Amino acid sequence: MTTIKLHNTRTRTKEEFVPIKRDDVRMYVCGPTVYDRAHLGNARPVVVFDVLYRLLRHVYGADHVTYVRNFTDVDDKINARAAESGRPIGDITAETTQWFLDDMGALGALEPDHMPRATEYIPQMVAMIESLIAKGHAYAAEGHVLFAVDSWKEHYGKLSGRSVDDMIAGARVEVAPYKKNPMDFVLWKPSTPDLPGWDSPWGRGRPGWHIECSAMSYELLGESFDIHGGGNDLMFPHHENEIAQSCCAHPEGRFANVWLHNEMLQVEGKKMSKSLGNFFTVRDLLDQGIPGEVIRFVFLSTHYRKPMDWTEKKALEARQTLKAWYRGTDGVVASNNAPQDIVELLANDLNTAGAISEMHGMANRDEWSDLKASMQLLGLADSEHIEWFREDMNMASFNDLPDAGQKLWTLLGQWQSLRNARNYSEADQLKERIEACGLKLSVGVAGPEATKTEAFDPAKLEALK
Ligand code: AMP
Ligand code: ZN
Repeated sequence: MTTIKLHNTRTRTKEEFVPIKRDDVRMYVCGPTVYDRAHLGNARPVVVFDVLYRLLRHVYGADHVTYVRNFTDVDDKINARAAESGRPIGDITAETTQWFLDDMGALGALEPDHMPRATEYIPQMVAMIESLIAKGHAYAAEGHVLFAVDSWKEHYGKLSGRSVDDMIAGARVEVAPYKKNPMDFVLWKPSTPDLPGWDSPWGRGRPGWHIECSAMSYELLGESFDIHGGGNDLMFPHHENEIAQSCCAHPEGRFANVWLHNEMLQVEGKKMSKSLGNFFTVRDLLDQGIPGEVIRFVFLSTHYRKPMDWTEKKALEARQTLKAWYRGTDGVVASNNAPQDIVELLANDLNTAGAISEMHGMANRDEWSDLKASMQLLGLADSEHIEWFREDMNMASFNDLPDAGQKLWTLLGQWQSLRNARNYSEADQLKERIEACGLKLSVGVAGPEATKTEAFDPAKLEALK
């Protein structure tokens, strides 16, 4: 069996991955807060952990991996959006959730096995908070419930490598009169009548953000599971607080064994932000005609622990490469198994960039079956399903002539094979016969292309042997 190695934020080393149970590998990734379209940065963890999910399924079997990613559908940003738009919260969260699924689907991301919504787990959160109070790790004050970091002082901050005292010295913590320690964080807070709220032992209120991931991962994955992921901006305070809550409520467990964090995405070398005017959503790119596979390819070409720079140049290059790969693998039967060298590269802390450069080698060596299997492993889909590719390949002009288009497609493939085999005289003969049907052949970066001339005769093309 392939040995997977992953860089564990908790130990700051690349470790051999040993699941708690080999037939039940469990992963939790923090999902989006649903109040707006996902921006391009939000898509990075989705693609990174999708690759890990696919690798785990490849190594341990699809039925032996459980992937949970939540939707945060109770949050003050959502409340603000509802207030300013006058729309009901439920409409906003339902619409945004579906947008997210559609946009991430366009990037080739598989849906996780479970996608719990926070609002469906309020009783479990309340129960966890009650247990934290009973164990002396939390206290109620003025309608709030707070986690007492002093009750877990020697562990708090281990993930992000900070001590409670350092954090207080350097932190922008919210000071509140009801906090015993300024680092104490909210588990539950009161809701005014205009805000979403649930009855609880502390009055009508709503959960703090962090408790939802602790409660939902416990419900769906248990007190100990294998992998917890998210962007590195979540390491502190969100993940630190998740650990504190979960380990104190379930001291019999370890919470997550391995912590994985992706680095941030930038745009043309700059932080993506609305004020810099370089902020865009995944949907914006898709609407501009940049295909999801191209976005995914660009993401995969940078290692997940390095900052990733989105540039227009990269997107253009990715499109050309994918076109050539789809052309070469079109109609080819994929190798039964993904090539082991690609699996090994991914198993080495998700070296997707290494896998892509190895795949360039496959294309240069005409190893199309292996390339196709590698593309499937990386979630890059098959040419048969890629409409933009056929359009790019100039096949769109044959949409109203499907038989002639299909025939041309096959002939162009044969022409390419003859040229690849350096059988130029036969290639030229074939070219002449195709061009005699009123077409002009050329070779673009991504392979052969055909343009119609005035003399184009589809019947003649179809009859060509
Ligand atoms: P948010 O909706 O801000 O909570 O973010 C949802 C997810 O997107 C989290 O996993 C963040 O770490 C991730 N994320 C946000 N901005 C970026 C970025 N610029 N690059 C990569 N990941 C990001
Ligand atoms: Zn979380």
